[in-house]
Amino acid sequence: MVKFVQEPGIENIKGLTEDEAAERIKTEGYNELPASKKRTIIDISLEVLKEPMFLLLIAGGAIYLMIGDVEEALMLLVFVFVVIGITIYQEQKVERALEALKSLSSPRALVIRNGVAARIPGREVVRGDIIMLSEGDRVPADAVVLSCSNLLIDESLLTGESVPVRKVPCEKESVIERPGGDDLPFVYSSTLVVQGHGVAEVNKIGINTEIGKIGKALQTLEPEETPLQKETKKLVKIFAAAGMALCVLVIVIYSITRGNWLNGVLTGITLAMALIPEEIPVVLTIFLALGAWRMSKRRVLTRQLRSIQTLGSTTVLSVDKTGTLTMNRMSLRKLYAQGKFFTIDENTASMPEPFHELMEYSILASQHDPFDPMEKAIKDVGNKILINTEHLHDSWILVQEYALSKKLLALSHVWRSPEGNEYVIAAKGAPEAIYDLCHMDDKKISELNSSVQEMAGEGLRVLGVARAVFKKSDLPTDQHEFNFEFIGLIGFYDPLRPGVANAVKECYEAGLRTIMITGDYPVTAQNIAKQAGISPCNEIITGIELEKMGDDELKRRIGNVNVFARVVPEQKLRIVEALKKNGEVVVMTGDGVNDAPALKNAHIGFAMGSRGTEVAREASSFVLLDDDFSSIVQAVKMGRRIFDNLKKAMSYIFAIHVPIAGMSLLPVLLGWPIMLFPAHIAFLELIIDPVCSIVFEAEPEEKDVMKRPPKKLNEPIFDKKMIFISILQGLVILAIVAAVYRGAPMLGESEEQARALAFTTLVIANLSLVFTNRSWSRTIPEMIRTPNKALLGVSIIALFFLALSLYVPFLSSIFQFGQLHLIDLVICAAASILGILWFEGLKIVNRQSR
Ligand code: ADP
Ligand code: MG
Repeated sequence: MVKFVQEPGIENIKGLTEDEAAERIKTEGYNELPASKKRTIIDISLEVLKEPMFLLLIAGGAIYLMIGDVEEALMLLVFVFVVIGITIYQEQKVERALEALKSLSSPRALVIRNGVAARIPGREVVRGDIIMLSEGDRVPADAVVLSCSNLLIDESLLTGESVPVRKVPCEKESVIERPGGDDLPFVYSSTLVVQGHGVAEVNKIGINTEIGKIGKALQTLEPEETPLQKETKKLVKIFAAAGMALCVLVIVIYSITRGNWLNGVLTGITLAMALIPEEIPVVLTIFLALGAWRMSKRRVLTRQLRSIQTLGSTTVLSVDKTGTLTMNRMSLRKLYAQGKFFTIDENTASMPEPFHELMEYSILASQHDPFDPMEKAIKDVGNKILINTEHLHDSWILVQEYALSKKLLALSHVWRSPEGNEYVIAAKGAPEAIYDLCHMDDKKISELNSSVQEMAGEGLRVLGVARAVFKKSDLPTDQHEFNFEFIGLIGFYDPLRPGVANAVKECYEAGLRTIMITGDYPVTAQNIAKQAGISPCNEIITGIELEKMGDDELKRRIGNVNVFARVVPEQKLRIVEALKKNGEVVVMTGDGVNDAPALKNAHIGFAMGSRGTEVAREASSFVLLDDDFSSIVQAVKMGRRIFDNLKKAMSYIFAIHVPIAGMSLLPVLLGWPIMLFPAHIAFLELIIDPVCSIVFEAEPEEKDVMKRPPKKLNEPIFDKKMIFISILQGLVILAIVAAVYRGAPMLGESEEQARALAFTTLVIANLSLVFTNRSWSRTIPEMIRTPNKALLGVSIIALFFLALSLYVPFLSSIFQFGQLHLIDLVICAAASILGILWFEGLKIVNRQSR
């Protein structure tokens, strides 16, 4: 493939200044399509109107008014506002988290401003901006191509035509055309660069672009429905139906036994409020959205909320070596030429003559202003050592570049010197590729290979360097046509990222395997794998072997092979498929266009944020802002924590509903005085429940979170054991509250005092439940050392409101509470703590039996 690097004229382009750009944003607006309208507080309030809890409160209030009990009605009205307030607070919290993620994950654009290239968010691109396009980018706005090479663009979004179209630079005043068709100088917003690169000037933005005209926006992060949400929705429906049936039953029984229809309906409403599990879906949304927000603080962007749930089930991390496990910060360490090695360190200021030529051609085989870390390293050393020698050729002009391809891992540069009449060609690349270019015989190859092995054995990435000359005439299309002559080898050291070895170790403890995938030489890969602690790493599969291997053999061998070398991105898909066939839950990383299929097909794809192309980002569930392997492990950990916390919150919600519903139901069935009225339920459900979801969301991970095997994919949140234990927790508390409620009158307390006692017990028991469910393995005293600020807040708020309801006369009359003494409170507290002691004991027993 022939690629022209020189894009004529672009060195002189300065682009807009930042001030001009800012001015244009002011007058012409941002480069964005009108987003779906943002929800206002009124929208959210209107939605609240549809909530069952709200309707029940209104119905309760209406009945109180009918009975003539204005105070109670007002009380419920206050709770109505509490419902609206809480809902708005939660919705906004979720909305804000998602909004922040959206702007972080929106496409970026590379523009030239003030003469320098800068990456900016796509929405800040203005008319007149000079944009640079390269493979894998989304075009940020409609633009005229100024220069390009081999620029192919997929315009299917606009035209429906899936074959990419070729672009050419704009000649003179071209007439603006519609999208579609080859050899036109226009590129359009949101279309995709599939090959080549180019420079273009923006002429239309936002709504004026072609995509704006058809009003089709790219898909962005939406709070989509997760399998978990579906699972819980079903559950909520079942509960709601059962609740309604019970309510009708209660109304009928009450009315028949006590002969008062209105009070019967009121009791029914109370029960309905106690039974409707409206917090379950809310908890889910909050946990996932806040989870994504938490991960973004750890430099991991969530593109698909549902993947957060899958994270905790991951069994294999298959990751790129260069840049993910290593820093991709190359430094030149060792050279080989004419049978001799030369080692370089920071102090190296000169080297023997034979290595001068090697450095000279290494520089010639690199970009003038290199971006590639290896080429940067070559320049750094070369310029230092060759300065004031005849080996630097700043006046030479690059005529052509032959790019690296997957068939031949080598590239060459063709140079023209002002004086000579021949082209000078420099090539560098994988040693095998260079042998190939030099048409070397087997003897020479095996001789050189032992030097390559030696360098690679030290973990160095080894490149071969070669040169050729060519009589000035038409250049061939293939670099093989040149008569290359081998010069030597250069070895780069790319240090492991700090923390990678620990992260790999942590993964093994957590039942996760790490697989390294690289385009590098097998021995180099093996050495780095060893440094990272990937084991076993004695067996390696290379790209060539992979090519020959059948799917079944791959599936079998991938069971214990952890290093893949000389692999091209296209082969990652087969690796993913083979792992999936083995029942693994696969994380795959990638950055290029060719990585996209593998990223999409893996259970979870991680795109590299700093190197990654837009295509890779769009195919992934997460974007890794710092490209660091350790961040993936952090994300897995976070996924496990979120799932754990969801379970804890759910089991708490299950448990607390048992005594609340029980104490609404039992008095009706057993002919006791009614204990709970709508205001009581509202107190419990509205003040304590939602806040508790915040407590559980903020709960730090369990100590053993990365010491246990991954959870099964699609492991339900509500398993039998959890439901059983939760209901048991609830039943014990129900028994205690009922005992307090029925026992107090026997000790001479009034009905109102008994209610106050039982309610206080219930509120404190509720808090105890939160405390005990913070961990199913560690006891409350052990957990005290793991602070949770939200929990402290909730406890204070709950106890404060309890005190108000007990001791403010107006409130205690609404709640129908009698006077309590300090000793009563102590008894209540003791009783409710008794209710969870068994579970604390169970934790200890469980631990000892393990
Ligand atoms: P990795 O998977 O580790 O990122 P790459 O796919 O980037 O590896 O590169 C694979 C091989 O291609 C390298 O080991 C090297 O031999 C060759 N190669 C990559 N970049 C260059 C370059 N700029 N010049 C010469 N050879 C290169
Ligand atoms: Mg690479």
